[in-house]
Amino acid sequence: MPRCAAVSPGATDTTQTVRLTSGTAGHNHGAVLAVLKPAPAPGFVIGDVPMPTPAAGQILLRVAATSVCGTDVHLYDWNPWAAARVHPPRVVGHEVCGEVVAWGDGVQGPPIGTRVAVESHIVCGHCDECRRGDFHVCENTRILGVDVDGAFATHLVVPAANVWPVGDAVSPDVAAAMEPFGNAVHACSYGELGGRTVVVFGCGPIGCAAIAVARVQGAARVVGVDRNAYRLDLAERMGAHAIVRATDDAVDEAVRRAAGGAIDCVLEMSGSPVAVASATRLVRPGGWISLLGIGDGPDVVDLSSDVVMKGLSLYGIAGRRIPATWEQVTSYVRDGVIDVRTLITHRFAMHEIDGAVELMKSGQCGKVTLTPE
Ligand SMILES: [Zn+2]
Ligand SMILES: [Zn+2]
Repeated sequence: MPRCAAVSPGATDTTQTVRLTSGTAGHNHGAVLAVLKPAPAPGFVIGDVPMPTPAAGQILLRVAATSVCGTDVHLYDWNPWAAARVHPPRVVGHEVCGEVVAWGDGVQGPPIGTRVAVESHIVCGHCDECRRGDFHVCENTRILGVDVDGAFATHLVVPAANVWPVGDAVSPDVAAAMEPFGNAVHACSYGELGGRTVVVFGCGPIGCAAIAVARVQGAARVVGVDRNAYRLDLAERMGAHAIVRATDDAVDEAVRRAAGGAIDCVLEMSGSPVAVASATRLVRPGGWISLLGIGDGPDVVDLSSDVVMKGLSLYGIAGRRIPATWEQVTSYVRDGVIDVRTLITHRFAMHEIDGAVELMKSGQCGKVTLTPE
């Protein structure tokens, strides 16, 4: 399942603008403009959908900013994962900052007008994992903009438990990016990074955010690895001490040289099976790896030699710890400890979704935001 990770290449531009409601020249009263997956096929459309009303336990938000994720590109392309999971019509998008407009029954806050970021994973609260406090691996997780209508719209409803007040000092575009930023913070949370050497495979927005988090946590040396020069430049701006341009040849030697010593930790954000295998070879005995990237093929790790005998620890990074990751993300963005704005390289209006998706596919971007008009 792709989530906030790699962007898949390919597919054609099939988006068109249509009205899903008839007989109107403009924006319908009582309707909201949204980016939709109208049918089980590639492409999105811009259309009107009914203004959502908050059910019991839900909050209505006016959308202030959203950002585009690799998952949205998979939905656009209608890749096998999307085709198996999503039931159109569906409003897409899940990285969002909004302002509280109304409460459903039983909701007692946050106050109307509060600026909030949104946790995109809607958890059930009653499965074994939820009862254990492991909400990030709830077995009944529904994802905003995938399993329920999402955020690329002027308004949306979410469970009250999914909104996270950020304060007015955090700008809407930064607040929208707190969700993928949380993936990076979560990936960095499984070991001590202070004084350590860290290698990040995959320097998309989450990888670059992880570089910044590792720096803030005191890593002695951080190396970014990617195939894409644009992203390596972004990695340097987010604080990488060294970068390695991955090629089809094995990158192990180049990464070892850039690290200049034992590698304590690898943060694997690319999903490339080659990178995963490389990570297990490169990390020192007793070190650890966070695996966030999701690949399309089987991994080819020599478990006996490169994991068991080396005593490595491998962590799968699903979503964000709730609330621990959100608390940490908030402190990083609110106090300006990490400059998330540097990660945001392009801004589009909602009706320019085609251009945003095309740019994402090109790889010549960091985080791309979408603002409702
Ligand atoms: Zn995402
Ligand atoms: Zn659950």
